[in-house]
Amino acid sequence: MGSRPNVVVIGGGIGGLFAANALIGQGLHVSVYEQAFALGEVGAGVFVTPNAVRHLDRVGLGPAVEKWGARVGPGSYYFRHDGTPIAPVQVSDAFGWNATFGMHRADFVDFLAANLPAGIVHTGHRAIGFEQTGDVARVKFANGATAEAEVVVAADGIHSELRSYVFPPSKPVFHGTISYRGLVSRERLPNWPMDRWQMWVGPSKHFLVFPVRHGTMVTYVGFVPTDGEMEESWSAPGDPAVLRREFEGWDPRIGNVLQQVDKTFRWALYDREPLPTWTRGRLTLLGDAAHPMLPHLGQGANQSIEDGRALATILAYVDTSAVPASLLAYERLRRARVAEVQLGARQNGLRLDSAYADQYPRCRARRARRIPQAPLCLRRGAGCARRRRSLAAIDPFRRLHDRLYLTKPVFLAISPTRLNSARISAVVWSGVV
Ligand code: FAD
Repeated sequence: MGSRPNVVVIGGGIGGLFAANALIGQGLHVSVYEQAFALGEVGAGVFVTPNAVRHLDRVGLGPAVEKWGARVGPGSYYFRHDGTPIAPVQVSDAFGWNATFGMHRADFVDFLAANLPAGIVHTGHRAIGFEQTGDVARVKFANGATAEAEVVVAADGIHSELRSYVFPPSKPVFHGTISYRGLVSRERLPNWPMDRWQMWVGPSKHFLVFPVRHGTMVTYVGFVPTDGEMEESWSAPGDPAVLRREFEGWDPRIGNVLQQVDKTFRWALYDREPLPTWTRGRLTLLGDAAHPMLPHLGQGANQSIEDGRALATILAYVDTSAVPASLLAYERLRRARVAEVQLGARQNGLRLDSAYADQYPRCRARRARRIPQAPLCLRRGAGCARRRRSLAAIDPFRRLHDRLYLTKPVFLAISPTRLNSARISAVVWSGVV
């Protein structure tokens, strides 16, 4: 094999940092460039599901997940808005591999970064331009610096600067919902069960609570409709009193959590249509840069981790001349699965906010009127089942969990020689199916 490619990752979020860990784990030379002057995350949680837990374990981060996560167990449940139980939540995969964890986002970013060798992450570097020749790709930064590598991975989030070098710019899709998110410490909720994921669903709104930081705090997310479009942001401050009003009359347990909220922030829910391509030559996309999705399947970060592992597995076996073909193979491996999750998250949002009747056309039409940019298929309400179904019968995790959580690592068995051959894409594609 000839020389191995160097990799530049743009973006030091969960996706970029995990990818760096996975690539270094395969012996590749990696540099990460992050626009912020310090790595960090907002005060909120992320739910880490078995499909990602397994990959974290494979790069040596299993102990960190156990240490910083809060293991979520079998008491997890869906409730109606008044607290009536609907159905249990599947919190592990069918084979019982690994588990699900609630994680503080800041802890996640910290341990992903701490596991990297010193000098890999360069903060204060905002990518503003990209160019490539046959052999090398070059990223320009706002501070005047440049970085060269045989592979550039754009992991720079939903507003990715580098995405436009792969695919013409497009507007993200606003879904008429904002989420209020924040944390409450265990001291302020002494009787709260710290071992379960709980969601209350009601007309047009839903409320989620799960533990983080080994059960020393909970994270909550309240999803509410809005008429106005809000600038997408991680950290727009919200008003706790407004949040409390949104869930007045719901299960008193929600009131107990919200009574303890001094600080909250709002985040508007945007995603994008699945892209027809993620790759151009030596540049490829990863995480929200490739596939921003609604949080209604809790998969944005988890899918970015799958991306990182797939990319590292493929690049482990190629020399620099095979990079463009390998990146296309990575894209083929990931794109169909992620598109399904992206669209599934939209569907699940409708289901959760549907007052237990998401498949009912009138409900869809009512909701779609509020969302002028909603994809046509949702606005038309075409093809929906006319039958009213209880949420218990359509528990999304029950239905989807096997496909979502069971990323069979068949592609790990592909031999290096075959990967470097002309049959690269066909082999990888058939391998994963
Ligand atoms: P980001 O986290 O957006 O990171 C991008 C990084 O790139 C940032 O650090 C940014 O500063 C940097 N950057 C941007 N532009 C540039 C540039 N030009 N140059 C250099 N650096 C740049 N996912 C889950 O899996 N489970 C959940 O339970 C879950 N819950 C969620 C709940 C809510 C309410 C929300 C809003 C999201 C949730 N997600 C969840 C989604 C998940 O948070 C995202 O999908 C994930 O963080 C994306 O990671 P990323 O690294 O691709 O992008």
